[in-house]
Formats: sequence, C-alpha cells, structure tokens
Amino acid sequence: MDCIFCKIAKKEVPAELLLETGETLVFKDIHPSAPVHYLVITKKHISSVAEITEGDEALMGHLIHTAKTAAEKLGVSGYKLVFNVGKEGGQVVPHIHLHILGGWATLVN
Ligand code: 5GP
Ligand code: ZN
Repeated sequence: MDCIFCKIAKKEVPAELLLETGETLVFKDIHPSAPVHYLVITKKHISSVAEITEGDEALMGHLIHTAKTAAEKLGVSGYKLVFNVGKEGGQVVPHIHLHILGGWATLVN
C-alpha cells in the first residue's frame, strides 16, 4: 500500500524518530506548526479515528500513553494532543496519527 506513514513505520522512508514501542512510533513532524511538533502513529494501518473498531480500543489507549511518554522525553510540561479526522477535519495523511504540539512555554519564559 502506498502509505507514507506505513513506509515510515517499516523504516522504508526516513524520519526523525523519538521513540518506538511494539505497536507505535513517534517522530518529528516534517513541517512543524508548533515549536515542538511530533506525531504518534500506530504501526498498524488504520486510516483515521473514524475507522477504529472496538478491537482497536487497547491500541488507542497505548497510542495516548505513548504520547505521554514522548512528551516527558521532550521535556514539555504542557501540550496539546490533536487528531484531525477526515478531509473535512483537516486530515491530510490517511493513516491515524496523534499530533503532539507544545513548546510555547519555552518561548515566553
Ligand atoms: P494531518 O493534517 O493529516 O493531521 O497531519 C499530517 C502531518 O504529517 C502534517 O503535519 C505534515 O507536516 C506531516 N507529514 C506529512 N508527510 C510527512 C513525512 O513524510 N514525514 C514527516 N515526518 N511528517 C510528515
Ligand atoms: Zn498506513
């Protein structure tokens, strides 16, 4: 399948990796829209939140837990976690990803 995030998950396309678990991967967004902008993806291809099933519940919990671990590693004490869902929701890449957005505090302090 021609999916850019599946290719990143399989290490076929390079990305600035922050951390990896058995089921997830965290890497830097190529066009950051915040001082700190990372993406948490599932290694499994799911096109969006609109496509998750009951069987994906534990995986989605793990995705959020991975985001928390990544934020700790990044040293951001506060951050936003964002899922864009579907084209109308601003989703451009059709592989589920959670945006970690933060780093503004370091700019004002
Ligand atoms: P969406 O709008 O689908 O929620 O967000 C997709 C995000 O993926 C965007 O912020 C975009 O900058 C990022 N992105 C798209 N292609 C690549 C890529 O090949 N590598 C990385 N690291 N980020 C990407
Ligand atoms: Zn994919």
